[in-house]
Amino acid sequence: MARIPAPSGYSSKAETSSEQAHSHAHAHALAQAETLCRASGARLTPIRRHVYEALYESQKPLGAYDLAEVLAPNGRRLAPITVYRALDFLIEQGLAHRLASKNAYIASANAAETQDTVAFLICESCGSVDEVSSQDLSNSLSTLLAQKGFRPKDKVLEITGQCTHCQSGSH
Ligand SMILES: [Zn+2]
Repeated sequence: MARIPAPSGYSSKAETSSEQAHSHAHAHALAQAETLCRASGARLTPIRRHVYEALYESQKPLGAYDLAEVLAPNGRRLAPITVYRALDFLIEQGLAHRLASKNAYIASANAAETQDTVAFLICESCGSVDEVSSQDLSNSLSTLLAQKGFRPKDKVLEITGQCTHCQSGSH
């Protein structure tokens, strides 16, 4: 059952369909990120791009040190300040969010609609994080912020609790 090795840098044909779907979504997210940055005159440097990719790939919140680890599996780790700067950039571009309650970062699932307020539902039992957004929520918050004259950077609501899966589990 020897498989003909794919040429280096071209492995998508050998992947399973779900991996293919994910890598397709991944490519789409990256393209979207590039477009978003270009539109705002910002530059998605290789480091910023790698940090975004790592966050997107993990599909769960990662701390800055986890990121430094993921980005340097061969030991040549990025300096934390470099990771923090890249994260700051991604947050400003609406490509990532910081979850204060977990001191971790997560890629934005709807980077194209950065104006929408995002609420993260964080399960304290299994650690899953669900991202939800609502136009009504966004409008209400925008009104409140305007009344206070407050300029938001990262509009994130964190709601901790238990996901439906964990609620149904026997304790
Ligand atoms: Zn849960």
